Amino acid sequence: MNSLWTSEEAEQCKDELDLRVYSSRLLGRDKTLVLHGGGNTSVKIDEQNILGETETILYVKGSGWDLEFIERPGFSPVRLNHLVRLAELETLSDSQMVNELKTHMTNASAPTPSVEAILHAILPYKYVDHTHADSLVTITNTPNGLNRIKDIYGDKVVILPYCMPGFDLARLCATEFPKQVNDNTIGMVLMNHGIFSFGETAKESYERMISLVSMAESYIKQNKAWTILSSNKEVDDGKSHVQKISELRSDISKHAKKPMLVSFNSGLKNLDFVNREDLGDISQEGPATPDHVIRTKRLPMLGMDVDAYVQEYTKYFKAHESSAKQALSMLDPTPRVILDHELGVGTVGATAKETAIIADIYDHTIDVITRATRLGEYRALPAKDIFDVEYWELEQAKLKKSGASPEFMGEVVLITGAASGIGLACVNSFLARGAAVIGLDINDAVESLEQQPAYLGISCDVSIRQHVELALEKAVRHFGGIDMLILNAGIFPKSQNIYALSDESWREVMQINLDSNLMLMREAYPLLKIAPNGGRVVMMGSKNVLAPGPGAAAYSVAKAGINQLARVAALEWGQDNIRVNTLHPDAVFDTGIWTDEVLNSRAESYGLSVDEYKRKNILKTEVSSHDVAELVAEMCGKLFAKTTGAQLPVDGGNDRVI
Ligand code: NAD
Repeated sequence: MNSLWTSEEAEQCKDELDLRVYSSRLLGRDKTLVLHGGGNTSVKIDEQNILGETETILYVKGSGWDLEFIERPGFSPVRLNHLVRLAELETLSDSQMVNELKTHMTNASAPTPSVEAILHAILPYKYVDHTHADSLVTITNTPNGLNRIKDIYGDKVVILPYCMPGFDLARLCATEFPKQVNDNTIGMVLMNHGIFSFGETAKESYERMISLVSMAESYIKQNKAWTILSSNKEVDDGKSHVQKISELRSDISKHAKKPMLVSFNSGLKNLDFVNREDLGDISQEGPATPDHVIRTKRLPMLGMDVDAYVQEYTKYFKAHESSAKQALSMLDPTPRVILDHELGVGTVGATAKETAIIADIYDHTIDVITRATRLGEYRALPAKDIFDVEYWELEQAKLKKSGASPEFMGEVVLITGAASGIGLACVNSFLARGAAVIGLDINDAVESLEQQPAYLGISCDVSIRQHVELALEKAVRHFGGIDMLILNAGIFPKSQNIYALSDESWREVMQINLDSNLMLMREAYPLLKIAPNGGRVVMMGSKNVLAPGPGAAAYSVAKAGINQLARVAALEWGQDNIRVNTLHPDAVFDTGIWTDEVLNSRAESYGLSVDEYKRKNILKTEVSSHDVAELVAEMCGKLFAKTTGAQLPVDGGNDRVI
C-alpha cells in the first residue's frame, strides 16, 4: 500500500482543517481501507469562542458524509473537554450520547458527529484516523488473530478486544489505552473491527495508517495468502437465466413487501468463490466488520430458496431480540447477498445505488474471507455481536433518515428508442421518479447516456429477435426483472404516396414500428406478469392513428396496428394485472425525426413562421418531448392505476382528432 500524499496538494491546504479534509479524502480513495461511508477521522483545533476564551474543538467526521468526498462542512465541531468528561461516566445511553454530542457543537447547523466522537476525543493526539482496512479484518477474523496482531505490530499498537462501537468502546479505550500505550505507539487495533492511527500532523497520522496496513498486507503475503482471482469481467454461460432471476426477485419483493432490485455479477472471481467446496461454511460465518451488517445482513443466501432464508432470519431475530435494551421490530427479512453456483454473486436493494454498494462490500468480503481461510480459517464475530449492531438504535436511525421514497423506487422500466427525442426524455422522467431504467436503441450512444447505477443502456436493434433476447437477458441480470415497458422506438420514413411505396420501405416500417413491439411484448410478458406492483405498458402511438395524413401510409398503418395490439393486450392481460395504454403525440419538434430542414419547409408550406407552425394546435402551445415523457411516466403511476386500454392524445388539441 502506497501513500497518496503529495506535497503539492498538501501545500494548497490553508489550515489544519483543510489538511484534515485532504488526508481523509486520501483514505477514502482507497477502497481497501474504507468503503461507502465507513471509517472516520478527526482533528483537535484550538479556537477562540464568542467570549474571547480559547477552547479546544474536536472536528470529527459528521454522520452521512463519505471520507472520499468529505468537505469542511462534513466535520462537526464539538467541545473537546466535554467529550473527555463524558468518557468518565459509568453509563450513557445511545440517545443521551447523541444529545450530548449535538448540544456541545459550536455550529448548530453542522451534521451529527460520528458515534465514535468520544473515542476520538480521548485519544491524546492532534490527528486521529480510523479505517476498516481489509487486511486488518482479514487477520483479526482468524481464530488466532490476536497473536498474529501481536507478532506483526509488537508494541506499535494498543490492542482492544471487540466491543460494541459507540460509548462502550470509548469507555473500554479510556481504561485500556493508558495501560498499553508507550513511546512506540502509533496506532490501535480493534479486534474484528478495524484500526486507528494518530499523529501530530495530518501527514504523520495518514502515513502511519498506510504503514500499519502495509505491515498487515506484508504478513498476509509472507503467509502466501494474498493471491485471489481478480477478474470480475462477466462470464456468459450462454444460458438464459431470465426466468430464474425474475422469479427470485418476485419472491424477494413479496417478502420485503415492496419492489426490490436484484443484480447478479457472474465475473470469474465471483464464480470461483461461489463454487468453492467449503462455501457452506465460509460464507455463513458473518461479515468482515460489524459495520457492514447494515448493508449486507449477517449472512448471504445460498441458492434461491427465499422462504427458507426468511425463516432462518426470523429465527435469528427471535433468538436475539429479547436481549435488546428497547423493543425492536424486525427489519425486512430478505437477503441482501445471494450466492449461486451458476450466477455468481447477487445483491439486493431498494435502489440500484444500494445494490452497487452491497456488491462492492461483498467483493471486499470475498477477499477477506479467501485470505483469512488461506491463513487458516475465517472466523467472524458471534451472531449476537452482529445482531447488536444490526439493530443498534443509532444505525437504524441512519437508515430511516432517507425520507419519503420516490414513486418508482425498486421498479424497473425498459424504454425502447432511448437515445433520442421522446425516449431520451422518458429516461429522465423515470430516473427522476426513482426507477431503474434500461434504455434500448440501435444508436450506440444509448450506452453512455447516464453514468449512474440506476441506468443501463444497451445497443439493440429492436426488430432483430436475437438482439431483443440478449438485451432482456442483460437487463434481468442487471436489475432482476421488468415492471414497465415503454414501446417508443420508431422511424418516420420520408413521405411517399401509395403508388410509389416499395415493398421494402413498407416492410422496414412494419418491422420496426409494428412487429418489434409484438416481439418485445411477448418476450416481456412473463416478466410483467410477476411485477411486484403489476406490469405496465405504454405504447407510443401517433396522431396519425386517429387522423392519418397523405404520404404516410406505412407509418399510419403500423401505428394503427400497434394501437390495436395495445387494445387487445389490455383485454388479454388485465387478468394478470398488467395495464396497457397508448399515447398519441403530434408535432413534438425537439426530436430526431424533425430536422430543422423538415421543420422549415413544413412551416413554409403552411405560410407560417417556424414558431407559429410549432404552435399550430388548438391550445396554441408547443408540445415538447419532456411533456410527452411526463405523461408516459404518469400513465405508469398511481394516477392511472385504474386505467387500461386507453388512448390519450398529447398534441395541444387537434380539430381532426377531436
Ligand atoms: P427520435 O428519432 O428522436 O427517436 C427515435 C429513436 O428510436 C431513435 O433514438 C432511434 O435511434 C431509435 N430507433 C429507430 N429504429 C430503431 C431500432 N430498429 N431499434 C432500436 N432503436 C431504434 O424520434 P421521436 O420523435 O422521439 O420518436 C419516438 C416515437 O414517438 C416514435 O415511435 C415516433 O413514431 C413517435 N411519435 C413522434 C412524434 C413527433 O412529432 N416527434 C409524433 C408522433 C409519434
